[in-house]
Amino acid sequence: MSATIIDGAALAAEIRQQCTQRAAALTARGHRPGLAVVLVGDSQASAVYVRHKINDCAQVGIHSELVQLPAHTDEQTVLDHVRRLNEAPDIHGILVQLPLPDQIAERRVIETISPAKDVDGFHVANAGALMTGQRGFAPCTPYGVMHMLAHAGVELAGAEAVVVGRSNIVGKPQAMMLLAADATVTLCHSRTRDLAEHTRRADVLIAAVGRAKMITGDMIKPGAVVVDVGMNRDENGRLCGDVDFESAAAVASRITPVPGGVGPMTRAMLLVNTLNATEIAAGAA
Ligand code: NDP
Repeated sequence: MSATIIDGAALAAEIRQQCTQRAAALTARGHRPGLAVVLVGDSQASAVYVRHKINDCAQVGIHSELVQLPAHTDEQTVLDHVRRLNEAPDIHGILVQLPLPDQIAERRVIETISPAKDVDGFHVANAGALMTGQRGFAPCTPYGVMHMLAHAGVELAGAEAVVVGRSNIVGKPQAMMLLAADATVTLCHSRTRDLAEHTRRADVLIAAVGRAKMITGDMIKPGAVVVDVGMNRDENGRLCGDVDFESAAAVASRITPVPGGVGPMTRAMLLVNTLNATEIAAGAA
């Protein structure tokens, strides 16, 4: 292996440390930060994600409220909870854990969250702010990736950046953030012809697909920086990314691991967004 590891777990720990100080300062000024998490249904995976988020809040001194609803909950009930949380003075961030059960329209729920409390950055107002270079909340995963690249000293201005995957929560906002950092951006997806032709041009390659080890070393330009957003299970049931780590690390200059890369950063950026929301609310109070 020749690539240097970009250690997301270590950077996330540093960010949590800073968050602890920010939360304490806000609380001392009478603005204790608060995050509400809405969980509908009994998905094991969602329950684990939510538990991590609640624990992270406790660790840094952010107050949290968990709204846990059964799988058969109707849309109106979820919207009522969101509207109540929009008005709650002790709550500065609202996160609705996705996916929601089929009877609930995710878009309607997301658009009901006050943009000022939309710490996931999924509301159309925040997506639009990102698109037009205005202040807003950035989705946690691509925001975390940008922090990792900055911390690793990766020069983005003028770089060829290739993002594989165009979801609203990762690929598309990632492309917008890289563009805002003056990279030349290519956004690939399932209909892209000859994916490897694009990935081999990348100085910075971001994989956000959801297919175990699909990006192999021969698809990577020597010396490229490779960020693996994917979270998949390999043939032995072990957590792995979208990048075949072994072959990619032999070619790349820097690479993020799975686990211990983007995942911890996503969690850390939720805390950062919640504190940003609290500081804005405190400034306005
Ligand atoms: P989605 O399923 O919403 O999007 C996947 C994207 O990959 C789509 O745009 C799809 O294209 C594209 N795609 C699928 N197959 C191919 C292919 N063969 N070649 C090129 N592109 C392809 O996934 P998410 O964006 O939500 O998540 C992506 C991965 O990141 C998952 O593994 C997920 O678990 C992980 N993830 C990790 C997070 C973390 O904190 N580490 C947070 C969020 C997600 P098309 O649009 O054409 O269908």
